[in-house]
Order: sequence, then C-alpha cells, then structure tokens
Amino acid sequence: MNDPIYRVEDLPTRLASKIQIDPVSGCWLWTRYCDPKGYGRAHWQGKADRVHRIVYRLLVGLELDHVKDRGCTSRACCNPAHLERVMDAYRRDMEDPVKAAAIREAAAIRQARYRARKKSVGTKP
Ligand SMILES: [Zn+2]
Repeated sequence: MNDPIYRVEDLPTRLASKIQIDPVSGCWLWTRYCDPKGYGRAHWQGKADRVHRIVYRLLVGLELDHVKDRGCTSRACCNPAHLERVMDAYRRDMEDPVKAAAIREAAAIRQARYRARKKSVGTKP
C-alpha cells in the first residue's frame, strides 16, 4: 500500500478531539454539527467550512475543491486518505488512453446538452 498515512493526532487538538475513528471503515467521523446534507461543519480561522475541507487543507496542504465523490460512504468522514483515493482513481483513469477518451467524451456530451438547453431557452418558438 502506497497510501500516505494521515493521523488525527497531527491535527490541532480542537479538531482532533471531535473526530471519532471508525475501527472498521477507517473513517474519521465528525462528532459535532453536520449540515443537512450530512457534511461535518466547523469554524476554522474565523470561517465556517466543511470539516473534510479543513482537515484536507491542514494535513495535505492543498485546497479541496472538486471532490464530488469519496472512497467511503459517510459524508461526516474527513479522512484525507478516503478523499484522496477518489482523486487518485481519476488521475489513474486519465493516464489510461481508453478511459481518458471515455471521460472526455462524457464531458463533451454533458457540455453539448448544456449548450442545447441554453439555446432552447434563448430562442422563441
Ligand atoms: Zn471515510
């Protein structure tokens, strides 16, 4: 396994003390407020944000903007390894020419549909 190892202990205590590790899934479950969609929420450096984004920023050092899916099923989970796995899978897929072509084609179809919808709104019958 080449997964980087992240540890709850490396987080500031104020955050770490509110995270419970699920021994089965390895999920880092936020034990405080979760929004209606199930994402953990917290204030960090004067800003309200989703907990998994705060944790990702602190432990990985990157902004997490585009994760739409995750490697586990709990939205309250903020384990960077569970989020990163999804990004890694995407990157791996893009390295495979066949899969990359399929991903680009799907994106092109989505874009064409979006453009067609916009056009039909703008024109009069
Ligand atoms: Zn998880």
